Amino acid sequence: MEFQGKCALVTGATGGIGAAIVQRLRAAGAKVAVADRDTRTIEAEAHLPGDLLEPDYANALPQAAQLALGGLDIVINNAGVITRGPVTETSDADWHLSIGVNVEAPFRICRAAIPIMARAGGGAIVNTSSCWGSKNPGPNHAIYCMTKAAIASLTQCMGMDHAHQGIRINAVCPNEVNTPMLRSGFAKRGFDPDTAVAELGKSVPLGRIAEPEDIADVVMFLASDAARYMCGALVEVNGGKPVS
Ligand code: NAD
Repeated sequence: MEFQGKCALVTGATGGIGAAIVQRLRAAGAKVAVADRDTRTIEAEAHLPGDLLEPDYANALPQAAQLALGGLDIVINNAGVITRGPVTETSDADWHLSIGVNVEAPFRICRAAIPIMARAGGGAIVNTSSCWGSKNPGPNHAIYCMTKAAIASLTQCMGMDHAHQGIRINAVCPNEVNTPMLRSGFAKRGFDPDTAVAELGKSVPLGRIAEPEDIADVVMFLASDAARYMCGALVEVNGGKPVS
């Protein structure tokens, strides 16, 4: 996959999946602007740290990336948060956090990036949904699943609405991935993350849960010209495991 000279913005860039995406894009020749709360731990051509819950920051990110890199061909909306529990155990703070990071920020970033890409003749956006929410419910994570369903629907609609501008908008939908998001959830519930990850892997037909690179490679495909006829697709990456 050829990314030489392409300019990409990646959110959640220092997280498990985000760091793998940044590494892969740069190795393939892209210039990358990284966005996260603190980006000092990761190498990139441009650093755009900030809080995605701040509307002005999210609105301005695409233009900031374009100015810093000299263009904007690819946006990867990867940042996300997970909150546990049924609605009866969901606080207002959890609601606002989940909607803010998982739905509102990608909406703001897409809204600002699309005109920039349209003026340049096209581009590719990859959003991050989940096997939980894209088509199926998931147990005990009601608000998280709802946000992932929302970004899946937004992706399908935007994929349709902006294809005529040469902008392809798709979403990756991972099942369980071995990242800080998953591991900290195990730790919070009193499980040893390594043991829990190994146990969970037994429930996957491929014999293990995904590593960040397994997801990053599918994101790379969706961002690349190899996916040139894909618009509004929700691509599940699940090792053969049906969603419970
Ligand atoms: P992670 O926790 O390792 O990374 C998430 C990143 O988002 C972090 O670096 C974090 O700092 C950043 N972020 C969160 N809130 C932010 C804010 N307000 N402002 C700026 N940055 C913020 O998680 P991950 O597993 O790598 O998840 C990446 C994406 O994949 C998320 O959208 C997640 O929902 C999705 N996903 C993960 C799994 C999984 O099992 N790990 C499964 C399905 C989908």
